[in-house]
Amino acid sequence: MIRRWLFADQLGPHFLDAPRQPVLLVESKAVFRRRAFHRQKAHLVLSALRHRAAELGDQAIYLRTETYGEALRKVSGEPLDVCHPTSRRALSFVQDLDGVTVLPPRGFATDPASFVTWADGRHGRLRMEDFYRDARRRLDVLMDGDTPAGGKWNLDAENRQPPPASGVPAAPPPMPVEDEIDEGVRRDLDRWEREGIRFVGRDGPRLFPATRREALARLRHFVEHRLPAFGPYEDAMLADDPWMAHSLLSAPLNLGLIDPLDAVHRAEAAYRSGAAPLSSVEGFVRQLIGWRDYIWHLYWYFGSGYAATDGLRATRHVPVWFRDLDADELEARCLSDVLAGVRDRGWVHHIPRLMVLGNYALQRGWRPAEIVDWFHRSFVDGYEWVMTANVIGMSQYADLGAMTTKPYAAGGAYINRMSDYCRGCRYDPRSRLGVNACPYTAGYWSFLDRNRGRLLGNARIGQAMRQLDRLEDLGAVRDQERDRGDRAP
Ligand code: SF4
Repeated sequence: MIRRWLFADQLGPHFLDAPRQPVLLVESKAVFRRRAFHRQKAHLVLSALRHRAAELGDQAIYLRTETYGEALRKVSGEPLDVCHPTSRRALSFVQDLDGVTVLPPRGFATDPASFVTWADGRHGRLRMEDFYRDARRRLDVLMDGDTPAGGKWNLDAENRQPPPASGVPAAPPPMPVEDEIDEGVRRDLDRWEREGIRFVGRDGPRLFPATRREALARLRHFVEHRLPAFGPYEDAMLADDPWMAHSLLSAPLNLGLIDPLDAVHRAEAAYRSGAAPLSSVEGFVRQLIGWRDYIWHLYWYFGSGYAATDGLRATRHVPVWFRDLDADELEARCLSDVLAGVRDRGWVHHIPRLMVLGNYALQRGWRPAEIVDWFHRSFVDGYEWVMTANVIGMSQYADLGAMTTKPYAAGGAYINRMSDYCRGCRYDPRSRLGVNACPYTAGYWSFLDRNRGRLLGNARIGQAMRQLDRLEDLGAVRDQERDRGDRAP
């Protein structure tokens, strides 16, 4: 059987054709020289690779080299195959190699041909909700015959509750226990830092699964103990509870340790047995076979030029305090806490990403491509494919609506409603002007004002634009925000 070269995000059994297939695993140091990744992300990836090599034993050739090219020269002469890699750079590299066969991608629920057929049939109107319904039907997930289980496709309306005062009723997630492989990874990363390789963020105990066993333990625990509370509070934020009832499965999914359809089937079984409510299960299923797959396919469908899209002419560089995760400098409680979460864990859930970090960048007009790079490097689950459309299309609205219907800009009122941040903040979420002006509230009006001409045709923000026209203090807000610039708020 031909030897399968597995990249570091292809580590589950579904990337092999048979359990005993010979394997090649490569640890390339050059990857870590190219970008300053979060220290905990570097640890997770190396730990996962080394754990997989240990599991496979003499079934795998495991090479630690400076580059992939150097590793391939060591095994030259032996034919290899590889599943379609997850970045353009890696795809182009493997396609140019002699003796290496590139197979279709794995690790996603929808195959490329089905996506292209769906997208081409939309005539330029791509919406995740439509793709998700198509996937539910095609994959027969949460369906009762031809109709969605429970009669509705989307139960989002039940899933937007603010955080409960008593905390989210979910058991804490199980955390991995580090072993001697992690000790070796930490020693190597310390040495690499001394040699000049840069990382961002703080080191800390490994918080995310590096093996399939750990990933399945987290998935089982989530479905049994946390899924019921996931849906209602999936958009809420609590300063003292970064995990809430989220699955914390994005990192092992993106390492390829879990097959997303397996996770979906387990969640659906919980609904069918009465162990979890449909709203929670539907929300989780939508994240996996809806949003995750949609983002993956758009990365390829939109082509290489999409990453440089900048329809809102956002030309300011990401400031150093944000780039370097200097959370302690900030007085804005929400942003300080979320940035500290990125620094200390390399992870915050999707609402802090979208409505605290992305929202702030969108309001200030920071360059979308720099934001993509920042998310890619700073999150344990960040990869080019996952961050490109999430940031360019959704969070920064740089494609002017090619994949979403409106910009995700919001003032402090949204953050106040969906979190407990504002109570302890020195700013006032209702205020847009003066020393207590919330940077999000002032930034929201400033964003609409700056982009009025580019957003005029968008019906979903028509009412906000009419409110903007009625603001008597708009000139003063404009001056205030120009003076605030990109200073840490
Ligand atoms: Fe964030 Fe504004 Fe609320 Fe402070 S008042 S926590 S800056 S939204």
